[in-house]
Amino acid sequence: MRRNIKSNNLIAREINKKIKESGYECGFSEVGILAIDDLKILNKLPQDYNDYLTANMYGDMTYLEKKLQYFHEPDKILPGVQSAIVVAMNYLGRETKQDWQKVELTKLEKPDYGYVSIYARGRDYHKVLKKKLKSFADKIGAVTGEFGHRACVDSVPIFEIELAVLGGIGWRGKNTLLLNKDHGSIFFLGVLLLDYPLKTDKSRVKDHCGTCMACIEICPTKAFVGPYKLNATRCISYLTIEHKGIIPTKLRPLIGNRIYGCDDCQLICPWNKFARLAKASDFDTRNGLDTARLVDLFSWTESEFRDRHSGSAILRIGYHRWLRNIAVALGNAAARKEKYKYSSEKNKDETNRKAIQLLKKRVSHSSPLVSIHASWALSKYESRI
Ligand code: SF4
Ligand code: SF4
Repeated sequence: MRRNIKSNNLIAREINKKIKESGYECGFSEVGILAIDDLKILNKLPQDYNDYLTANMYGDMTYLEKKLQYFHEPDKILPGVQSAIVVAMNYLGRETKQDWQKVELTKLEKPDYGYVSIYARGRDYHKVLKKKLKSFADKIGAVTGEFGHRACVDSVPIFEIELAVLGGIGWRGKNTLLLNKDHGSIFFLGVLLLDYPLKTDKSRVKDHCGTCMACIEICPTKAFVGPYKLNATRCISYLTIEHKGIIPTKLRPLIGNRIYGCDDCQLICPWNKFARLAKASDFDTRNGLDTARLVDLFSWTESEFRDRHSGSAILRIGYHRWLRNIAVALGNAAARKEKYKYSSEKNKDETNRKAIQLLKKRVSHSSPLVSIHASWALSKYESRI
């Protein structure tokens, strides 16, 4: 009997080893494996999330309620589910310079240029990761034989970060993101649920945030209620991506030139000096989105928006939210100009004139979402005349 258990453990370890090798071959930087029964040790989570939901800190993200509902019933996501494989994929574009954190922070000081979160500058990660998970599943099938599976990339109500913590990929940092000692936090997570039994193969990684509070201190909107606790309704990533409506007036000036997402709490994180470049070209910056002028982006027609962002996650927010976000950044630029050094007064006047002209046009836009934010931005220029 003892010999049987021993040989079963050996086989399980050998299978895990082969699965991991296949994962690395597919381009993943980390692969964590866990038996679904081990989820049960995560009994603290639902209370945390209940608190979060009760305090109404999730805004329009009602899918979080669903996540909680499915927490104890993973069978509803994949009938007969027995194991989960969590993968991480690095997304720093291959053109990224060594001092990238400093470079990115400098971009936030240029009022006329839009800041797009690093993860959204390349191809839509949902599509890239789903495709990679599919070929990973095929490779696993060659080791285990046929099995049922479901690939999850933000599309299924599961707690990816908690699964990754259990799978030994990293720890949840005070900025609420997953951190890894070798890769920082600049990676995407994907999960493969399987109806095939696998053994959990890594122990949990301990929290290495220590006494650091840099992410909490840098947050422009003071969105952290405390370490590990985020009020999403104040987070710029939420406001510019998930939030469908009008951005509260008092938060608009704090958004600065961030037109799609925010990276501040990652840019300041000391662990991100270990972030590594993506292996493939998928996440290289497209359309010059790392150096785009607001007035140029704001002048795009809807069909230009679709063409230019074809294959990008940005397309998901739609044209009107895109214009809403740029209008806010243009309004903020009006107030911040004095501090910014222009190559000449002529350039400054020219940019102002173009911004005013475009905003005037958008004030009469048929979408109230666009016209309301354009009016607000225009008022910032008019108050300076
Ligand atoms: S993404 Fe930006 S706004 Fe959101 S919590 Fe981090 S620093 Fe704050
Ligand atoms: S900035 Fe500091 S506290 Fe925040 S996640 Fe990174 S290490 Fe942790």
